[in-house]
Amino acid sequence: MAKIKKPIQVPKGTFDILPDDQKYWKKVRSAVSDVAQSYGFGRIDTPMFEYSDLYMASVGEATDVVEKQMYSFKSKGGDMLSLRPEGTAGVARAYIENGMTNLPQPVKLYYTGPMFRYEQPQSGRFRQFHQFGLETIGDAEPVLDAQIIQACFYLLKCLGLKKMVVQLNSLGCRTCRTAYRRALVDYYRHRKNKICLDCRRRLKENPLRLLDCKEEKCQPIKAQAPNIVDYLCEECHKHFKMVLEYLDELEIPYFLNNTIVRGLDYYTKTVFEIFTEDEQGKTTPANSLGGGGRYDNLVAQLGGKPTPAVGAALGIERVIHQMQKDQVKVSAFVPKVFLVQLGERGRKKGLKLFEKLSEAGIKIAESISRDSIKAQLKIADRLGAKFALILGQQEALDETVIIRDMATGVQETVPQGKVIDEVKKRLAK
Ligand code: AMP
Repeated sequence: MAKIKKPIQVPKGTFDILPDDQKYWKKVRSAVSDVAQSYGFGRIDTPMFEYSDLYMASVGEATDVVEKQMYSFKSKGGDMLSLRPEGTAGVARAYIENGMTNLPQPVKLYYTGPMFRYEQPQSGRFRQFHQFGLETIGDAEPVLDAQIIQACFYLLKCLGLKKMVVQLNSLGCRTCRTAYRRALVDYYRHRKNKICLDCRRRLKENPLRLLDCKEEKCQPIKAQAPNIVDYLCEECHKHFKMVLEYLDELEIPYFLNNTIVRGLDYYTKTVFEIFTEDEQGKTTPANSLGGGGRYDNLVAQLGGKPTPAVGAALGIERVIHQMQKDQVKVSAFVPKVFLVQLGERGRKKGLKLFEKLSEAGIKIAESISRDSIKAQLKIADRLGAKFALILGQQEALDETVIIRDMATGVQETVPQGKVIDEVKKRLAK
């Protein structure tokens, strides 16, 4: 075997989630599961890779995500596969494939998991990152757009985040979008010499993305560009108005931003992004927690029946970063009981006793490799355990154990066979 000269590191743009940070991940995952289920969403897990065609047909071939950022590879069997860059396409595929059209509509699904995008790593931007998402498939009612935003807001509130704001736009349906695209192309074509190279390309391939440009020199042109909301057909206009009315009713802070187009081809009508405001009350792309919108054509585009849908996806790393910035208190594992063992006999018996207490559902911790009682009691104290169970040479021989109340220091010896009941009795007080 070849000898490795330098220690191997994680691939660029990826990271380890170490034990100290797991408490945040656990808190986010459990809040997602609680909130999603209370809003009627059932969990779905789709594969981390799919046929590349799925993303080409949904996200769109001329989007940055598909064109530049997908991890695609040919399998040994010759299939073209891609690591999922986002979650909605896979969920829509699963909805069709598993006959969910036949269930009462809408079908509400949620997911959490890693996504993969080949991008230039920077703060808040990774190559493997995690999202949670909510999808409501099978109903066009604007109240469901508002409910998705409400659920995201509520979830973020449960996680202790403050100063959130939604930026919204409507991309209309095929009819109004075609008229808008024509107006946009016409406007930009007359200013072709003043825009960046990327925008010239967007003008040809994906004109809506012109509004996404962050280049300094394109900003004045973008600011004067036609506004899609002025091109909405009556139906889309009414739908958007209703969404805003629901948000007013919910007292969710929002403002309209006609440059929110989202990067992916499948969006129709409502699109939105959720931000946290910085100290100056400003929002920047770096503090976008996530976004979503309606995708009324996607299911049909993937070969299913015409099925309206709406969803959102939020970045877990961004949410955790904001929780840390806001100094949200997140408690780690707090054991109720700490097992202290002394001497070889105590250690041997302690191993088994530890398992029995865990099995009985009692939150227990230990430091089995330590010898000194003082050191072990110190750890028990630091972890916040209510009781210490002390098992020394004598107790091991007598088949007893000492229960020590960590607050008062009062100790009592009980038979090992009764320790679970005794601990439970004390914890229930
Ligand atoms: P998008 O699907 O691009 O709208 O992303 C939705 C959310 O996922 C963003 O607002 C971020 O919070 C998160 N996100 C997207 N791409 C990345 C990335 N490369 N690294 C970390 N988070 C990301």
